[in-house]
Amino acid sequence: MSEQTITVSMGDGIGPEIMKSTLKILEAAEVPLKYEFIDIGEKVYLEGYTSGIKPEAWEILKKNKIFLKAPITTPRGSGYKSLNVTIRKTFGLFANVRPCISYHPFIFTRHPDLDIVIIRENEEDLYAGIEYQQTSEVVECLKLVSYPGSEKIIRYAFEYAKAYNRKKVTCMVKDNIMKLSDGLFSKLFKEIAKEYPDIESNSEIIDIGSAHLADRPENYDVVVTLNLYGDIISDLVAQIAGSVGLAGSANIGNQLSMFEAIHGSAPDIAGKNIANPSGLINASCMMLVHMGLGSYAEIIQNAWLKTIEDGIHTADIFREGISKKKVSTEEFTKEVIHRIKNKEKPQTLKPISYKSNKAMGIIQAKRLNLKKELVGVDIYLDYKGKAVELGENLTALLKNQSNLKLRIITNRGVKVYPEGIIDTFCSDHWRCRFVSKNSSEIEGEPILPPIPKEEILKLLSLLYEAGYDIIKTENLYYIDGKRAFSLGQGE
Ligand code: ATP
Repeated sequence: MSEQTITVSMGDGIGPEIMKSTLKILEAAEVPLKYEFIDIGEKVYLEGYTSGIKPEAWEILKKNKIFLKAPITTPRGSGYKSLNVTIRKTFGLFANVRPCISYHPFIFTRHPDLDIVIIRENEEDLYAGIEYQQTSEVVECLKLVSYPGSEKIIRYAFEYAKAYNRKKVTCMVKDNIMKLSDGLFSKLFKEIAKEYPDIESNSEIIDIGSAHLADRPENYDVVVTLNLYGDIISDLVAQIAGSVGLAGSANIGNQLSMFEAIHGSAPDIAGKNIANPSGLINASCMMLVHMGLGSYAEIIQNAWLKTIEDGIHTADIFREGISKKKVSTEEFTKEVIHRIKNKEKPQTLKPISYKSNKAMGIIQAKRLNLKKELVGVDIYLDYKGKAVELGENLTALLKNQSNLKLRIITNRGVKVYPEGIIDTFCSDHWRCRFVSKNSSEIEGEPILPPIPKEEILKLLSLLYEAGYDIIKTENLYYIDGKRAFSLGQGE
């Protein structure tokens, strides 16, 4: 098999020790890889590179496409940017993958059969960092969910299940409340699941889903979700698995995929030959499966599991009565290598088997260009008065001067005019929904004729001249013939 070159960084703190151990293990398993090393981290930050990486390293990362990364130390103080965030944004790493596994009875956990992979969308959702304060009282944060972004992560989850020999994918979002954004994700999940008939699939609402995850994690296999939910449940599941120190993680993109241990650079124990290299070893095995070298990953992970099972433990996981021998980083590495040579498999822990030896390819997503019809506008006002007064004044203002009419006013999503919930607390942030004067309604569903965009501009001028403080507008569309905006509560 021809050797592929990957990028490797030795990192800071315990990084060099655990990376040396990992590379020795890859060598012992005769993995057909060559390494190109880059310097990133503390030294580079202190040389004045604010993201901890030099320009020439970008080229190497781009060329090799696969990056095995040891933990780094970000110097204290302001002005230093997170290297991971910079790499993730530069290369569009859309998936964060966190396998969480119990190693009962060798590592303490209340959930002996937990073996879950959380696949978290990594680029969108509330993490786009788009926030505004437009009134004294209200701050907003935009949640962006795109069709291609969702398609990529969902497809990746199913491809992952195939490559890593997983049986089921569960989608967790809150589409009963966020019907458009989370609804897009769950709808796409159901469609894409049909393309993978050999993999079981189901959907759960994230609130009850995460409660079930914490209570009966053995019922889950692969979980795919949006950015924020994924952030929360990946920490939750990692915590209850009890094995964060042994876990690897991956950030996957079409141009670059990065594999690393979950733990940090642990400077307190650096250079002492006591660090546990398991997190990085497991990360390197995730990398091998990703590259289509799963047969090597299988040998390494089974040897590693057997080492854990034989009670050969580094100090961080050593427990009297369960562990047999406390070993250094180098001794642990030798023990794993010994078991690689003998192709040993665990007896109590579940042996690993990766059936596919196919590299994971580029994950494609469709681009859309759907028919869009403008049918109204929500104009947000900063207003200090009462709902009825605002509603009546706006209605009167528009009467003979606009082809639009005020349909409703909501405050924090709740309808307050006309005939709104009188007792609801009203902030200074009002959404006023304007639609064509010729609109009607059938069984609560508004039937809205198209409006020309000029009507919105005219309306904005009218409101401005009447002294209203306009803080933002959102256009209302029918997209592909369907209402593409939510109705206010009580609308
Ligand atoms: P970071 O801020 O870099 O993510 P952190 O504050 O979460 O890091 P870590 O560097 O992950 O902290 O480590 C916390 C402590 O756990 C360390 O001080 C160390 O004692 C222990 N530790 C972490 N990783 C290992 C390891 N691989 N082997 C042994 N002990 C470890």
